[in-house]
Amino acid sequence: MFDEEYALPIIIVGHVDHGKSTLIGRLLYDTDSLPPERYAEIQKTSEMLDKRVEFAFVMDCLEEERSKGITIDTTQTFFKTEKRRYVIIDAPGHKEFLKNMITGSSQAEAALLIIDAYEGIRDQTKRHAYILGMLGLKQVCVLLNKIDLIQYSEEKFNEVKEEVVKFMKTIHIDPTFILPISAINGENVAVPSERIPWFHGLTVLEALDTFEPLKVEKKPLRFPFQDVYRVDGKKIIVGRVEAGHLDKEESFFLLPEKKEVSVKSIEKLLTSGLTTAEHGDSIGICLKGNHRVTRGQILAGDLSSLISDRIRSNIIWMDPVPYQMGTPLLFRCVTQEVPCQIEKIYRKFDPASLEIIEEEPSSIMGAQVANVLIHLERKAVVDSFNDIPEMGRFVLERDGRPVAGGIILEDHVEL
Ligand code: GDP
Repeated sequence: MFDEEYALPIIIVGHVDHGKSTLIGRLLYDTDSLPPERYAEIQKTSEMLDKRVEFAFVMDCLEEERSKGITIDTTQTFFKTEKRRYVIIDAPGHKEFLKNMITGSSQAEAALLIIDAYEGIRDQTKRHAYILGMLGLKQVCVLLNKIDLIQYSEEKFNEVKEEVVKFMKTIHIDPTFILPISAINGENVAVPSERIPWFHGLTVLEALDTFEPLKVEKKPLRFPFQDVYRVDGKKIIVGRVEAGHLDKEESFFLLPEKKEVSVKSIEKLLTSGLTTAEHGDSIGICLKGNHRVTRGQILAGDLSSLISDRIRSNIIWMDPVPYQMGTPLLFRCVTQEVPCQIEKIYRKFDPASLEIIEEEPSSIMGAQVANVLIHLERKAVVDSFNDIPEMGRFVLERDGRPVAGGIILEDHVEL
């Protein structure tokens, strides 16, 4: 069923000049997502420059509209297939990209990593792939672009493919697809190419259509307590349903204590007799019986969360003032606020070169990524970022200011 409202958010990443803009232009053009007058304009400009229709121009045009603030929102470029709509969100080239992803202001559910088949893996390919790994993105499609430049050779394609698989393994990414394409010629983007009869896989659009949207509403309940009020002798717990849904009379677990409780009533201002609340609803609830409840506890539909006072994670340090071992920090994840320290810094990386800067360092500086063990003063409840994003990302504060962001990976992958 086609949901007009929904658009699967994707990111397109890759080394400069490997074909990102061209691919975006091609995707928009081949899916009729480009207004016709725009196309005519692009064609005219191209001819003037004695070129073929350059799809990278589409991006320049869009960019121009953006700078004039006319029609297109900076981070919202849409296209659609028969199955659904897609929105291309912020690219890693943008300064705020990683911060936006970690703080949740933009969230990709799938990625296209574009690599020039002639040039192979380059610096930025590594850096961007590394970021995909750091975000725990599992739906990754690698596009070996410019196959025209390798004369549509199966042998050369397989060579680069092997190199890609080997590299991706080192950063724990298992690409769902590796496809040969030519963005400029529109080969194997929306339609298969006759020039690669040896290839029997999917087109880019078909590959995208196999990806699954994240359905937080279908996940087990996560209801972090924001506040507890006493009204007419009733203890009302307020918060926002971050995942799943909640029914009156249903039994849940109170975390981190793992205590079984059941919901007596659901309260909402100006609404009475509520029996159910969905993902995204801000509500109040009363529990049956008398329980010690406080801000930061989580009402959960199951016990699959990680409940621990030690969390291993990749963090990105965003503050210009470095972190020194032993400095007290505050861990914030949904409504949980727990004093903490970094107990161990295993290693830190230069996100640009992917190189390990230092093993077991004692400080982390601005823009560095580090694999650390966080020791919390008491247990916190987290889920993997991929599973329930709101419960899988956290911020570290120092003296009331956010200084780092981190993401919880499923298997606590060590990068
Ligand atoms: P970006 O920097 O990743 O956005 O790369 P662009 O989309 O600007 O492309 C860089 C150059 O590669 C441009 O001159 C494109 O015309 C060219 N290009 C893109 N795709 C192809 C392709 O499939 N084949 C060939 N031969 N050139 C391409």
